[in-house]
Amino acid sequence: MLLELSGIYKNYLQGSMEVPVLKDINLQIEEGEYVAIMGPSGSGKSTLMNIIGCIDKPSEGVYMLDGHDIGSLRDRALSKIRNKEIGFVFQNFNLLPRQSALDNVGLPLQYAGVPKRKRKERCLKMLDMVGLSDRVSFKPTQLSGGQKQRVAIARAMVGEPKILLADEPTGALDSKSGEQVMELFDVLHEQGTTIIMITHSYEVAQRARRIIRIIDGELLEGDGVKSQPIVTSVPVQAAESAAAEEAEEQTEAQEQIKAEVQSETEVHFEEENIEDNTETDGIKEADGNEETD
Ligand code: ADP
Ligand code: MG
Repeated sequence: MLLELSGIYKNYLQGSMEVPVLKDINLQIEEGEYVAIMGPSGSGKSTLMNIIGCIDKPSEGVYMLDGHDIGSLRDRALSKIRNKEIGFVFQNFNLLPRQSALDNVGLPLQYAGVPKRKRKERCLKMLDMVGLSDRVSFKPTQLSGGQKQRVAIARAMVGEPKILLADEPTGALDSKSGEQVMELFDVLHEQGTTIIMITHSYEVAQRARRIIRIIDGELLEGDGVKSQPIVTSVPVQAAESAAAEEAEEQTEAQEQIKAEVQSETEVHFEEENIEDNTETDGIKEADGNEETD
């Protein structure tokens, strides 16, 4: 079993009251599964995702990830496992705005201390995989939403993690870009990546092999068998506006990862600044003719 949550509770302190957000979550996911998590806004999806992603710890319960008892690990060990095992994709992409696509993709490898030459080789391969070979030196502001998300997917997968965690990966995209993202997920699934994806869209969830629902902090599912179509009591429009609402809020966890990425990479970038610029310029020149559309 790649991932096993047993009796997980998460409480948040609201004033002096402990408010339960996750209640007795028991979940097992095997290597190679493709799982969609659905549920209304505020039901605890992101909280669960943050626990699975080792960004947050449960108040109670045991979380085993690839043989590690996550609760017993200290922060440093935890970041190490997170970096090795998990790639994240967020609704709002979370790319570093001043860095090129290439440099954004390379961040997890910088953490892992992969030498520069190797890093670049792997980043270029990943950008090719997501269909962005002609955009390597572009900054996020020069990319469309769909392209940004594909850069984010390349970044999530460049370290070859076993698990891809995606929180509303298509939530901020038009349907065509969303479809491209889902096609990439299909490819990653075929290559053996374990995918856990939060979505509001039933159509998107249908791409997964297993659908889990979370309502008011509790999981519902038909044990591992692909669920029957859900007739939700939430009208489509309400679900869509909930998705839009979530697009606007950046969770603390995302901020935390971003801050971590920034503080860790600033050091590297300062060290390597001159060299990095030279290389990026080289790529720009090589691809200069194609950068016009
Ligand atoms: P979802 O992703 O399903 O919309 P969340 O997991 O973000 O839901 O939140 C579930 C509940 O937990 C919400 O009621 C939210 O207000 C609460 N919550 C989330 N994060 C915190 C926090 N850091 N402090 C207090 N309450 C929180
Ligand atoms: Mg959420």
